[in-house]
Amino acid sequence: MRNFLLVLVLFYTHLGYSQYTTQQIENINSTLTKLHEQAMFNGVVLIAQDGKALYKKAFGIANIQTQESLTPNSSFNLASVSKQFVAMMTMILKEQGKLQFDDKLKKYLPNFPYDKITIRQLLTHTSGLPEYFDLATQYTNTLDTLNNEKLIKLLTDLKPELEFESGSEWEYCNTGYALLASIIEKASSMKIEFFFSKYITQPLHLTNTFVYSLNIKSPLSLKTQRVYGFERQNGRNYPNDLTRFDGIVGDGNIYSSVEDLLIYEQALYTNKLVSKETLQEAFIPVKLKKGETYNYGFGWEISDDEETLSHTGSWVGFENYIERNITKKTTVIILSNGTNDIAIDLVNTILSGKKPKIPTTQLIRNVRLIDGTGSVARKADVRLKDDKIWEIGNLTTFSNEENVDGQGFVLSPGFIDTHSHHFGGLTKVPEAIPAVSQGITTIVIGQDGSSYPMDTLKKFIKKRPIAVNIATYTGHSTLRSETMGAKSLYRTAKPSEIEKMKILLKKELEKGSFGLATGLEYESAFFSNRDEVLQLAQVVAENGGRYMSHIRSEDINLDDAIDEIIEIGRETKIPVQISHIKIAKKDQWGKSPQLLARLQKARAEGINITADCYPYDFWNSTLRVLFPNRDYTNPISAEFAVNQLFDPEKSVLVRFAPNKSYAGKTITAIAKERNEKPSQTLMNLIGIAADFEEKNPNFNEGIEAIMGKSMDEADVANFLRWSHTNICSDGSSSGHPRGHGTFTKILGRYVREQKLMPLETAIYKMTGLSAENLGISDRGIIANGNFADLVLFNPDTVIDNANIQDGKALSTGIERVWVNGQIVYQSQKATGKYSGILIKKQSNSDE
Ligand SMILES: [Zn+2]
Repeated sequence: MRNFLLVLVLFYTHLGYSQYTTQQIENINSTLTKLHEQAMFNGVVLIAQDGKALYKKAFGIANIQTQESLTPNSSFNLASVSKQFVAMMTMILKEQGKLQFDDKLKKYLPNFPYDKITIRQLLTHTSGLPEYFDLATQYTNTLDTLNNEKLIKLLTDLKPELEFESGSEWEYCNTGYALLASIIEKASSMKIEFFFSKYITQPLHLTNTFVYSLNIKSPLSLKTQRVYGFERQNGRNYPNDLTRFDGIVGDGNIYSSVEDLLIYEQALYTNKLVSKETLQEAFIPVKLKKGETYNYGFGWEISDDEETLSHTGSWVGFENYIERNITKKTTVIILSNGTNDIAIDLVNTILSGKKPKIPTTQLIRNVRLIDGTGSVARKADVRLKDDKIWEIGNLTTFSNEENVDGQGFVLSPGFIDTHSHHFGGLTKVPEAIPAVSQGITTIVIGQDGSSYPMDTLKKFIKKRPIAVNIATYTGHSTLRSETMGAKSLYRTAKPSEIEKMKILLKKELEKGSFGLATGLEYESAFFSNRDEVLQLAQVVAENGGRYMSHIRSEDINLDDAIDEIIEIGRETKIPVQISHIKIAKKDQWGKSPQLLARLQKARAEGINITADCYPYDFWNSTLRVLFPNRDYTNPISAEFAVNQLFDPEKSVLVRFAPNKSYAGKTITAIAKERNEKPSQTLMNLIGIAADFEEKNPNFNEGIEAIMGKSMDEADVANFLRWSHTNICSDGSSSGHPRGHGTFTKILGRYVREQKLMPLETAIYKMTGLSAENLGISDRGIIANGNFADLVLFNPDTVIDNANIQDGKALSTGIERVWVNGQIVYQSQKATGKYSGILIKKQSNSDE
């Protein structure tokens, strides 16, 4: 292929007394070669010692239309590296007596609206003038090609306020250099391209250096082919060249080659252009008004030891760098036209004696891409770069690139489980098998009011890396417990306790917690009042977080509980999410349309209310939730529970520490065994568990748990289909089968078998919508630059296998799972990669 044609000119002479080792030069060559092979570098590099090239090599093409190759003579748009030439022209005029550095601009531009700004301030970026890009974007038309006259007129007409008092501070400013170009023309009475030619390129015999812009297509430039900028996107090269701002000269738009730049750079050791005394001014840090200095001279950045002078240049398709060390007499020149500056970083890394980190790419070929937005599936290849998604499209492998044949399976974003209890299992199984085996790549914890502090999570992951990402909310019950005492939660909090909770919560939010999660149905929070929750939610609002709630009742007081979460959303204006939405009271079954209508009405009012939901008609919790009035010995309440709140014949006791033989049996079966009515058994089991707890205060695991059948399938289906419901598991590493099978159950049973919704919609509800409901913007969608959390699955076979009898059976059809670019699960097994991270809330104030 033509773009891999290299023009190779290697010089290994002079290495005998070079400042750089042969090893470093070889390392640079292999690094640039690798970058070029991976489409991350297109350009020319020259490294010299005492003006002689140690290394000089061109990689790639000058023009994507003609496919013409780059050579060491190719003329690149220097972008901001042009500034030193503009500074040089100013110095030449100073030596000719045509201007002084401390002249006011007004002398040359009579209508200029600022009286005090001097030429020196333009040269050193200390004028305080605003950046012209912003002014031009706001006040000119998109069809208007700018030039220097129009820029001056814009400043004259608008007279924008200065960013700071001229001379008092330093701030990089392209406007200043554009004005310098105009001053050069005024002071010399020559067009800048001719002045440049007469006083710089001709005396130095530079044959590939010229001024070129949309308004100046100088005859001097026409004999030389210029290099065109381009940008690679999704495997294709697109033009990324001059814009309507490129009628302006001065801040950029001088073109040159590495060969010419070396000649010019060497001339700076001589009197060929200006005297050494004049040049000296260009190489000393500018003095600011308060006496301090800034490491910038006339168009050059200066190192602290003042031995290294350098400048970068970055504009449309071009990324350039020049550096000269005046003690070691070395020169580094990198000119590139492929819109990628990584080569500059890596060459500098190597020259400073460090090891470069070349990005690793990975190609996933031949997949049906479902990107998580809800868009229809399409055939594509996806390329990863380190932990991110780089390219999506019709892609070909680079040489020696790791690649995976997707075999036409579906590639989707990794599933985000917005309500997970899987964290507990990670201590024993950091491979996170229950989660990743169903395609989950991020678990959101801190649910139902109970959480770990951010610092604890950070330490946990550092000590034992895990295969899945974690994000957390801060638990309301945990805050209560810390401030009120674990034994003193069955009451409302005192104002002083609420104040303490607010402080704790704020700290967690600042550390990256996503918000407040409540578990109001549980005793540890049930006795809180609305005001307490609202006050805490207000703290969340002030810190850019969200609210998520296992609401106060899912059965007898469901209406009131819904009202409460809507009120929190209304009062605080933060997004609020109902956890595992359900209707768990028999005589209310079938009312999901009314409930959804109510939520939709709240949304229309402007309240951002959403929900998550798991695809099962039975829940997993403690027996005590079956007594909404907390009267565990009241026979009437027990009878009510049996009739309205769960089906004892289909509800299984999954754990019962006082009598392990009960585990796995239905309440009806246990009742028969005990020769009791189911309602009596219910009361007795709670009593036995309470006694056990009192005698075993240090018993850490749950004493009892029940999987209660209490939902209607039609309601579950309606909740799953609501446009603002995302899928969650509410699962853990054992117990309820949802811990292993939620996402695969949706894909296999609800999508493939029952056709409840299109596959694309289901994926959206597991990824893009989940990320949106959490406020995560760089995961959940397969898009360029997002983190590479991915699942490859077979849509024809994917299915959950976990059930009440075997809650840990692994799903079928999950072929591969990537977390942050690394494969953590394939062929039904963990790979031993632990690439999960602790995801933090993205705040508006993030830099
Ligand atoms: Zn819950």
